[in-house]
Amino acid sequence: MEYSKLVDVYEKLSATTKKLEKTEIVANFIKNLNSEELKIAIPMLQGKIFLESEEQEIGIADKLVIQTLTKLGFSKKEVLNEFKETGDLGLVAEHLVKRKRQAILFKRKLSAEKIFYSIRELASLTGKSSQEKKLNIILELLNSAEPKETKYIIRTIIEELRLGIAEGILRDAIALAFNVDKEIVEYAYNLKTDFGEVAIIAKEKGEEGLKRIKLEIGKPTKVMLAEKSKNIEEALKDAKEPAIEYKYDGMRTLVHKDKDKIWIFTRRLENVTKQFPDLVKLCRDNIKVERAILEGETLGIKDKKPVPFQELSKRIHRKYNIEEMVKDIPIQINLFDCLLVENEQLLDKPFSYRRKKLEEIVKIIKGKFQLAEQLKTKDLKKAEEFYHKALNLGQEGVMVKNLNAPYQPGKRVGYMYKVKPEKETLDLVITGAEWGQGRRTTWLASFVLAIRDEETGELLEIGKMGTGLTDEQFKEMTERLKPLIEFEKDNIVHIKPKIVVEVGYQELQKSPNYKSGFALRFPKLIRIREDKGVEEADTLERVKRLYKQT
Ligand code: AMP
Repeated sequence: MEYSKLVDVYEKLSATTKKLEKTEIVANFIKNLNSEELKIAIPMLQGKIFLESEEQEIGIADKLVIQTLTKLGFSKKEVLNEFKETGDLGLVAEHLVKRKRQAILFKRKLSAEKIFYSIRELASLTGKSSQEKKLNIILELLNSAEPKETKYIIRTIIEELRLGIAEGILRDAIALAFNVDKEIVEYAYNLKTDFGEVAIIAKEKGEEGLKRIKLEIGKPTKVMLAEKSKNIEEALKDAKEPAIEYKYDGMRTLVHKDKDKIWIFTRRLENVTKQFPDLVKLCRDNIKVERAILEGETLGIKDKKPVPFQELSKRIHRKYNIEEMVKDIPIQINLFDCLLVENEQLLDKPFSYRRKKLEEIVKIIKGKFQLAEQLKTKDLKKAEEFYHKALNLGQEGVMVKNLNAPYQPGKRVGYMYKVKPEKETLDLVITGAEWGQGRRTTWLASFVLAIRDEETGELLEIGKMGTGLTDEQFKEMTERLKPLIEFEKDNIVHIKPKIVVEVGYQELQKSPNYKSGFALRFPKLIRIREDKGVEEADTLERVKRLYKQT
């Protein structure tokens, strides 16, 4: 497939923001592709050269792209100036190459396959001269590309294709192109988690083929999601035939086993098998069947207590010194579901049956490899006692599950409910910020939050907030903060403390990294407190009190 064909589609997609139009553009394009072409075209439309479950990632930094562009004959200053103006390296490449290439008439046609596999090769290069090799691969692609093509090649390489092809649009486009039901495409995707494969099955085998899709060992499925209940009483009613379990605050873990081979995936479908050799061994030794797909929550444990998620997360993205990590942060898994045993797929079976199977096939190693603590009761008092016991043990709350319900990958369908204590919010002062990168260069994209020391009046840092804001909110915050900038160094700015924001967060932790001695985990903007001045912001005293309560 010529890359230029894909580029035509990219251009059409960028010209509209309407979901329906995007869906039709994608559908019209993919319906005429053969299976081999679909395999490449679908990930390239998503701008995702690797599936989440593949262990590789492209990992090309802006810096290397800038360096590559200088090899095309542009000065670093030229490249950086353009980048500053547009904030988009794809556009930079297009503009610069357009200026230079007018004279060149003969060029090879680039194929989409060539680009796809070259980018995959980038990810496989490691070691000493890998940067140079990577640069040469990118250079080779750019050398034979039209200006427009260079834009999309670069955007794909730095994983910023930005065409707005979210899962919903791709699902609808596959349904439209191959005349199959949307719901069935979604069902198939939640099981396969690979739109390329789903499109091929839809094309070759139609709706019946999609319905026949089965769980596959080694390929992660989307997990079933929980709804929230206000309290235990409501959750018992919601779940109808309730079983209550501790809600462990760790890493949702999918374990796949085929004889001696074990895979570990996260809820976001990342393959973290290499990072958890201890868990792999536990699974290999203590699952008593040859083939299985199980689900559980992995915790980091120190002195028999769960460590904050932040600690465990150090293990999730660790690429080196893994054995050291295994010793530093020992783990425990609490298994709570079972989706496949030997050749029996259990998705349609009720939870009571799946839990029983789990009990049958797992050899329990207490404190290491165990089942989620569970209580079957409709009695409110007993359920509440169980909830308090969970909290006292340092767990996050409880999950209340319907024993009669099947397992629905990827859906929030009311088969399980979570109950956890409501977190308080904090009113904090913005004292600093950081200019964003890429698309966000013109915005302040990360905000330093501080609380007030009532005695000294000093503002003490307690965290940085960079997520949970919409584009509009980033813009608004930038506009509000710009006039308050005191001074800037590199891309860090100091802000005159004037603005108070209400911030939600997942957890309050002790931390030596901030002057307050505390840190917020996942701070999230709730609103700007227009009604509050700095002197009314929350105090260190209040933070200490909140910390004690958790
Ligand atoms: P939340 O992330 O707050 O929506 O809560 C759902 C998450 O709780 C799941 O994705 C799991 O990672 C986690 N969890 C902890 N314990 C359990 C349990 N016993 N059953 C199901 N999920 C659990």
